Amino acid sequence: MNLVFTDEQEEYRRQVRSFAERVLRPLAEQQFDFTKPLSRDDIAALRLAIEVHEVATSAPIRPDGTLDRICLGVFVEEVSRVNICLALLGNALFFPLWNIRDLLDEEQAKIYAHVFAPGEIVSMGLSEPDVGSDPTHIQTKVRRTDTGWVINGRKQWTSYATIAAGILTACRKADEDGGGISLFLVDRTTQEYDVRVIPCLGMSAISTCEVTFEECWVPPEAELTPDRDGLRAALALVEQARFDIVFQAIGVAQAAMDLAVSYAKDRTQFGRPIGSFQLIQGMLADMATQIEAARLLAYRACSRVEAGDPARAEISMAKAYATEMGVRVASDAIAVHGAIGLTKECAAERYLRDARMLTIPDGTTQIHKLVIGRELTGLSAFR
Ligand SMILES: Cc1cc2nc3c(=O)[nH]c(=O)nc-3n(C[C@H](O)[C@H](O)[C@H](O)COP(=O)(O)OP(=O)(O)OC[C@H]3O[C@@H](n4cnc5c(N)ncnc54)[C@H](O)[C@@H]3O)c2cc1C
Repeated sequence: MNLVFTDEQEEYRRQVRSFAERVLRPLAEQQFDFTKPLSRDDIAALRLAIEVHEVATSAPIRPDGTLDRICLGVFVEEVSRVNICLALLGNALFFPLWNIRDLLDEEQAKIYAHVFAPGEIVSMGLSEPDVGSDPTHIQTKVRRTDTGWVINGRKQWTSYATIAAGILTACRKADEDGGGISLFLVDRTTQEYDVRVIPCLGMSAISTCEVTFEECWVPPEAELTPDRDGLRAALALVEQARFDIVFQAIGVAQAAMDLAVSYAKDRTQFGRPIGSFQLIQGMLADMATQIEAARLLAYRACSRVEAGDPARAEISMAKAYATEMGVRVASDAIAVHGAIGLTKECAAERYLRDARMLTIPDGTTQIHKLVIGRELTGLSAFR
């Protein structure tokens, strides 16, 4: 088993880090306001500034044409050290980090090319007011008409719906169509739906939304899963996106620790840098150890997936551990800073708010523990 990055992967990390520090940090901290949801114009302007940098717009592909998932993790981690919202908006700002377009057939890919054009992003509408950890009871309805389909219902916690080119919407079909769940692509340029922003604790640069569909007509080709289980297809996409969350948590934790180390060396009390006190060093040591443990879990889960293993338990271990670790490390970074750590003058408070947002989407910590338990015992707690 090889637990070190290859020279190529180390070189890739250097390139992404240099790009993130030189290009992304000034954009996120000086030129754009990341304290409120970015608009479509902001995204277009950011994309213009970013797309001239090759490392930002080309996915890490190996010479044999396969995606290097380890490098993808490195990319998300390094970008998230600057601001996790950049990684969350990755499909619009960089390259497809996870790909809804894979659901489309050739004809649909032509029709909806504008929805997946560079700079665009598509939201995922799975959760609803009464549908969270258990997505099997989706209530948003779709009924067939002579000319297509009509959608009625409400989606909740839909990320970046204010700027999305479309919403991938999980709907329940009418009984006469089998009553199953199917996925529909609702195109913002041709369909109307209401979007309400729900202000949240962190991730301030992206909107978390409620989306309401009222007699929303879509054409026949909007159905992306006519012959398969739409819920299964949606959950496969969530699985792709889950790795991003794991690496976002590692990136934000690393940023929090870097800040704490730097402050511990500068801040003096009792005539000495606080970093020389054993209890402060103990906190820093715990932060570094937990970040490294999360990294090992995450990159190992990636390697297993690359080797063709579903690695269900390992992915759940990485998601549950890394996201909870992000909260602990960011909180300890505040402790190292004392009072200033609680203020908007110090990035540590943003790191804690952002890290706290990651334990819930794409399966809460509790749900991932149940997945691990199921893999260990063969017994499901879900039914
Ligand atoms: C920042 C953010 C972005 C999101 N983006 C999207 C998005 O783009 N698209 C989308 O469709 N959804 C999105 N979501 C929704 C997310 O997927 C759900 O919040 C998540 O699945 C949990 O559902 P819930 O919030 O309704 O909590 P619930 O399922 O109601 O759970 C409430 C609590 O009960 C616990 N719980 C539930 N069932 C069990 C059980 N069997 N055993 C033990 N404990 C249990 C949970 O762990 C949690 O602590 C997002 C959420 C957040 C926070």
